[in-house]
Amino acid sequence: MATVTSYGAARVVTGSCHLLQLEDHTKILIDCGMFQGKEHERNREKFDFDPALIDYLFITHAHLDHIGRIPKLIKEGFHGTIYTTEATRDLAEIILLDSAKIMKEDYLTQYRKAQRRGKEGSVPEPLYTEEDVEETFNLPWHYCTYDESVEINDILHITLRNAGHILGAAFIEIDYIEAQTKQRIVFSGDIGNNSHIVLPDLSTCHSSNYLYIESTYGDREHKALKGSIEEFKEVIRSTINNWGNVLIPSFAVERTQEILCILKEMFDKGELPQCKIFLDSPMATRASEVYKKHSKMLIPKCQTFKKKEGSIFDFENFIFTLSVEESKQINEVERRAIIIAGSGMCTGGRILHHFKNRLWNRKNALIFVGYQANGTLGRTIVNGARSIHIYGEEIMINTSIHTINGFSAHADQSHLLSWIKKIDGLQKIYLIHGEEEKQVVFKDAIDRVLDNRAHIVKENELIHL
Ligand code: ZN
Repeated sequence: MATVTSYGAARVVTGSCHLLQLEDHTKILIDCGMFQGKEHERNREKFDFDPALIDYLFITHAHLDHIGRIPKLIKEGFHGTIYTTEATRDLAEIILLDSAKIMKEDYLTQYRKAQRRGKEGSVPEPLYTEEDVEETFNLPWHYCTYDESVEINDILHITLRNAGHILGAAFIEIDYIEAQTKQRIVFSGDIGNNSHIVLPDLSTCHSSNYLYIESTYGDREHKALKGSIEEFKEVIRSTINNWGNVLIPSFAVERTQEILCILKEMFDKGELPQCKIFLDSPMATRASEVYKKHSKMLIPKCQTFKKKEGSIFDFENFIFTLSVEESKQINEVERRAIIIAGSGMCTGGRILHHFKNRLWNRKNALIFVGYQANGTLGRTIVNGARSIHIYGEEIMINTSIHTINGFSAHADQSHLLSWIKKIDGLQKIYLIHGEEEKQVVFKDAIDRVLDNRAHIVKENELIHL
């Protein structure tokens, strides 16, 4: 009998890692993500399975909580084939290299501090290095296109379908034969919210025996996207018309490209006042290149941009600042600038320099377009701090602060339910990738429409399909 064991993203949101073992002992790992936030230290723990015995790794999408431990998996013996979309592979390279770079910088900072205390031996090495990330891309990767059935062996086929979450993201239908009977299990990865800004809608899953589904926002409904876009445009227009500047902390993948598309559309429609737009994030610039490379996967509006300007994100007002010198030059622009920079939750990166230079000025605006986790600088500002400390200096916050809640890359409860309801033949639904109290609400909602077929997965729980 096939089994699944979840080694992460069980009653928590991060560390996605699920092991499917078929009757013939084929072992398939679905995602190998990093634990983030307060679970972070768990990344150092040994895997509860032998990575050398895993035959295949299927990746749903390139977010760090789904791919962040892959170099560690390889360091510890995995040498099988990786199946995913080419766009996910391209984004994964950017994200994993950035992750290795951040870990190295953290390590060096901790090391120097420990050295001053004479305790440098106590600082743990980074989880993996840039060289380990390069090794990851030396393994065999098989690129799947959406809706194409890929035969892995006589009894195992997979189909990746558009999850509408970030570029390249897929839910994975795994077809296998057990006791001469065809079976299907689906791993949702993260499911998108029909954003219509850059990605086509989530595809339908027509049938499956079993479903492992994310439940990040299984307890709530999102604000309507259309209203959020209008709110965003209004802040841009009023601030720029008032000779101010707009600061936008943004995640490098997907949210940044969505913001660029909205700004480009405003420009095309004559809604954007004269201004300069700086994308001051080398990582977001690299991610945007991947979006350009795979532009056929985007909605027709983005294709039109490409036809008109030769590229999706380029137009005369966009300036991509890669070097530190170029970034510093933005400081000389006194007014009418829109600055998009990382990190998305303001925990580091170039956005801090822009905060230092511009948060004191009441003509400016700060727009949050993504979730700000507890304990981050972003959350401190959203919660109403009057001043913050950046590089040891106190900075007053006089800008107007705007939190736009409708830009979510995750489906809300009704969207998840309507997707599930279209799946024929579901015997059991397993909830993963969510905080437990939210999963309880989502389970109740599923059980009401699908007669108690939902189960909240525990970590290391062996599920017999
Ligand atoms: Zn994700």
